[in-house]
Amino acid sequence: MLTDSFGRKHTYLRISLTEKCNLRCTYCMPANGIPLSPREHLMSADEIHTIAKEFVRFGVNKIRLTGGEPMVRKDFPLILEKLASLPVELGITTNGVLAERFIPLLKDNGVKTITISIDSLHKDKFEKITRRNEFEKVWNTIQLFQKEGFKVKLNIVLIKNFNEDEIIDFINLTKDRNLVVRFIEFMPFDGNQWDMDKLVTQQEILDKVNYNFPLQLKRLDDAPNDTSRNYKIAGYIGSFAIISSVTNPFCDTCNRIRITADGKLKNCLFSGKEFSLLKPLRAGQPILPVIQSALEHKFATRGGMDTPEKLENPELHSKNRSMTSIGG
Ligand code: SAM
Ligand code: SF4
Repeated sequence: MLTDSFGRKHTYLRISLTEKCNLRCTYCMPANGIPLSPREHLMSADEIHTIAKEFVRFGVNKIRLTGGEPMVRKDFPLILEKLASLPVELGITTNGVLAERFIPLLKDNGVKTITISIDSLHKDKFEKITRRNEFEKVWNTIQLFQKEGFKVKLNIVLIKNFNEDEIIDFINLTKDRNLVVRFIEFMPFDGNQWDMDKLVTQQEILDKVNYNFPLQLKRLDDAPNDTSRNYKIAGYIGSFAIISSVTNPFCDTCNRIRITADGKLKNCLFSGKEFSLLKPLRAGQPILPVIQSALEHKFATRGGMDTPEKLENPELHSKNRSMTSIGG
């Protein structure tokens, strides 16, 4: 098993397929995108498969494909097919813009759950945050995936004075739809203009929900290693969740490890330290010692940013890449 020095067993691998994206969410990407790694520095479909197989050999049973936008990668179908041959639960996080065309591929390869990011239910606000005019496409895709029988989760990054007024509208979507609406606290990364004042905290979300649905809020059981705290409104079909990496992190049960599109292992989303897997792989050397070293260096909490002061220190954010190049 891939165990770190705090006894946490790592069974969940998130693989970023690309640094590219067809949206430009302000909290994730600069307007003009980020400098991209040369193509030959990125993992090929075969290299992704080989690396993933090694993780599966040591206990990984869940793989999520992310990015950038995973579906912009031309060989996305090939990668999905290769990974579907492994004994893992496969998941995908996407902005939904291209997802419709892949429905048959996802079904054929056993993908049952899809996470789609949508930060506003208003076309103009969606366009403001993503800097692209794709609201209708994404909204229709969410409905289509539900109709096609997928379990659909929505990711919403909450930002003060921007979309916090939509918390209740998002929760109301779960009244007669079997959706999971996940509110994510805005996190600091290189160049994303993060500021504690822009944060909508877990407590603020719960206060708003309790005010709007008095005595109707039910706490649900969380799955082991869940990074979200799960709730529902009594009588509603769907549920909602809060991912509070900033105010109430879930590091003590973390089972996640990440690989960037250029084949570097990150032992934590918040950690600036990276461990290349692609270099030894291409040199014909074993990658297990690198994986073990990355786990030995994993901090107990948020890549070592274990106090609010450290989290608010911009110097520490800039040691980490932007979210789009880590793979969220
Ligand atoms: N492009 C895909 C998407 O948007 O779903 C996958 C990659 S994206 C980096 C993965 C998730 O990270 C998205 O739900 C996005 O909203 C979230 N994310 C990006 N930057 C974030 C930040 N600064 N704080 C919190 N969540 C963030
Ligand atoms: Fe692209 Fe996803 Fe980042 Fe938005 S959050 S810019 S969709 S990678």
